[in-house]
Amino acid sequence: MIPFLNLKGISALYRQELIDAVADVIDSGWYILGEKVKSFENEFSKYCGVKEAIGVGNGLDALTLIIRAYKEMGVFREGDEILVPANTYIATILSITENRLKPVLIEPDIHTYNIDANRLEEKITGKTKAILVVHLYGRVGYSDEMQNIADAHGLKIIEDSAQAHGAMYKGKKTGNLGDAGGFSFYPSKPLGALGDAGAVTTNDVKLAEVIHALRNYGSHKKYYNQYKGVNSRLDELQAAVLSVKLKYLDKENEKRREIAKRYLHNIKNEKLILPNGDAGESHVWHLFVVRVKNRDAFQRHLNDNGIGSVIHYPVPPHKQEAFAEWSKDRYPITEEIHDTVVSVPLHAAMTEDEISKIISTCNAS
Ligand SMILES: *Cc1c(COP(=O)(O)O)cnc(C)c1O
Repeated sequence: MIPFLNLKGISALYRQELIDAVADVIDSGWYILGEKVKSFENEFSKYCGVKEAIGVGNGLDALTLIIRAYKEMGVFREGDEILVPANTYIATILSITENRLKPVLIEPDIHTYNIDANRLEEKITGKTKAILVVHLYGRVGYSDEMQNIADAHGLKIIEDSAQAHGAMYKGKKTGNLGDAGGFSFYPSKPLGALGDAGAVTTNDVKLAEVIHALRNYGSHKKYYNQYKGVNSRLDELQAAVLSVKLKYLDKENEKRREIAKRYLHNIKNEKLILPNGDAGESHVWHLFVVRVKNRDAFQRHLNDNGIGSVIHYPVPPHKQEAFAEWSKDRYPITEEIHDTVVSVPLHAAMTEDEISKIISTCNAS
């Protein structure tokens, strides 16, 4: 069986280095907010090209804390609106509702699966405060057009970079494109920990200062609390693991780009709509997502040939039970995407044989 994802194989590439890094933490006797977190924050901020990176518990918390910090700073208020792609992963939306702001769903571009900048302005009201742009499947969703709209209406741009570590727009990395970026280091993401982890990136020193406090009970100084904060800290073990894996991120991204190029070049099947390949450095191919009318049959065909596949995602946010208030709303492009997408295996530990087998099986469906 060719599994959809082979995390065991990816970890095996760095096994000894990871063990040494973990042993270092065990022997240090310091497990929360120590040198490892500080080092990783420094390395990751340098990597992204930003002034500040703040390690947090996971990607959802990273986004939630950015919005929360803007509330503490008086920039956002409860009831304010944030524009967000209708076809994103649910966590993006939850970061808004958790803060009691209102997500306003925007249809994506069917060719890039990212937010359609032409549809932003029609949804802007007096309460709109931000665009939460998602770099879905690893492809940059930010653009100069988006920035111009944000500037014209005084909106913040928050990046959901959970799937696009290292992707670039005009020489700048994600996390450094908007006002703040939220990253997930969930194990399957382009930069993955061995457990839950996340980070916020920003050039806004004040915002960073508030998030530093919020992630640690709202405290800048032990036992003195300025905000009603939360506990969402990156721990030393995961930080040590991430410092090892960050060194190989560009190499892994490049490897995934090469595999994507081969798929795009060699998969020739009228039934499959391949992803738009015209992306260069702006795509890190977290997922290789094709569209197919008869998705069940295609997945069965893959499975019968020993190839795993996953749907990202089967149900759009507005049709989730958790958002019953949106159940009558219609987003035709989003619904078309959710009805037809399927992701085939693409990861940094794939073998030549696996790549060839996936190509030939896709062509024979
Ligand atoms: C994974 C993911 C998140 C959430 O990250 P967690 O670390 O799992 O909390 C948010 N947004 C997107 C687009 C994601 O893919």
